[in-house]
Amino acid sequence: MKRSQLRAIPAVEKVLQALGDAGLPRPMVVEVVRRELAALRKSKSIPEFDSVITNIRGALRDLRSSRIRPLINGTGILIHTNFGRSPLGERVIESLSLIGANYNNLEYGLAGGKRGGRAAYLEQSLAVLCAAEAATVVNNNAAALVLILRHFCDASATSGANSAHPKNEVIISRGELVQIGGGFRIPDILETSGARLREVGTTNRTTLRDYARAIGRDTALILKVHRSNFFMDGFVESPPAEEIAALARQKRVPFVEDLGSGAMIETQVTPGLEHEPTPAEVIRRGVDLVCFSGDKLLSGPQAGIIAGKAKLVDALKRDPFFRALRCDKLILSALEATADIYMRGDPHIPVLQMLRATTNELRSRAESIRDALEGLPLRAVVGTGQAQIGGGTLPRSSVASVTLDLIHGSVPAQEFAARLRDQPLPVIGYVARGRVKLDLRTIFVRQDAAVIAAIRAAAAQP
Ligand SMILES: *Cc1c(COP(=O)(O)O)cnc(C)c1O
Repeated sequence: MKRSQLRAIPAVEKVLQALGDAGLPRPMVVEVVRRELAALRKSKSIPEFDSVITNIRGALRDLRSSRIRPLINGTGILIHTNFGRSPLGERVIESLSLIGANYNNLEYGLAGGKRGGRAAYLEQSLAVLCAAEAATVVNNNAAALVLILRHFCDASATSGANSAHPKNEVIISRGELVQIGGGFRIPDILETSGARLREVGTTNRTTLRDYARAIGRDTALILKVHRSNFFMDGFVESPPAEEIAALARQKRVPFVEDLGSGAMIETQVTPGLEHEPTPAEVIRRGVDLVCFSGDKLLSGPQAGIIAGKAKLVDALKRDPFFRALRCDKLILSALEATADIYMRGDPHIPVLQMLRATTNELRSRAESIRDALEGLPLRAVVGTGQAQIGGGTLPRSSVASVTLDLIHGSVPAQEFAARLRDQPLPVIGYVARGRVKLDLRTIFVRQDAAVIAAIRAAAAQP
């Protein structure tokens, strides 16, 4: 019985032949085939050869679509965490390819012809942008926070005269024990870093007295976490950062703020947006160190930037753990190019350009796309939408936007949206009131022709 079942399992070679070109490297295809056949071996009944092939084709399609590739973002969410946060501009890409394709002076002093410091220019330019004494950079903001916490907790624990009382308590308001996106929870980050959480205040109200009472000989630092992705309203209170800073100075405890997003622009000048505190503003209020992401509102590559007092930044850079979190040459060059753009006052940051586009510009693009869709079995109309910053920033804000709304004659909206996602250059929109909506604000002008092609292909599908 068992033998006859085994014999019914098709040979790998035969399956490979039947599959033809799967559009993936052969070793990957062989691996998928082996796994699928192994699963069959465990199952009770073995399907017909054709349906085995169909299943394997499905598995290969899933694998192919999991490859990283560009897509068109019609969601209206500018910094979309699932879509790689901020797209990089032309200048940044130029720098990436130039540095990536050549040897470079990453750790070489050209003047002396010897080994040199890493990221010296970048660190200075970030310090200038943040109006801070010094700055440095690690892989992401989560890493920046872990480095800071580990450093001030561990270092104090071993160097303290009284080692029975390790200085590893981190004071934080109960209203700031937040979760940012998937897998980033402040209490967990603290625990990972060897810090003991000392919560003060309540969810909605924390006073300066709450902070003052919590400070003791175990206190390693005071942490403030920006409520990036939610807001609280009503009976709420938290002391101004200036007052916490004064208290921290008086008690000789470092005061650190996890700002999350690194806005270098005054967001409130855009209608619909609130003010997002900038790193420079936070430093001015008296925090000793601020950390934020490179790929949120700063719109550079993924990175975690730390800025503040030179003494503290230098100490962090000397921590052995810093070495484990350092960025590679591509990130450093991309971030350097991004910082340069801000310092020149250029408008070459894609997310900021998208934010600035007027609804008139967006509407005329939507109309052109609509006009190019005539003769298809669908109705295309120009609609309205609300674009959002996304990436866990400015949760209360939205910007008026223009959409292209698609209503297919016979295909339900959800299915038509799936067809658009299934194109060679996937187009992602959202469904509202039975329509597939594509927000023009997050679609690059250079992608308009590709949007038309994708809609045409999706509409023509049987
Ligand atoms: C986004 C965010 C983080 C995490 O930053 P990553 O760069 O994604 O690691 C941490 N803290 C706050 C407040 C954030 O908004």
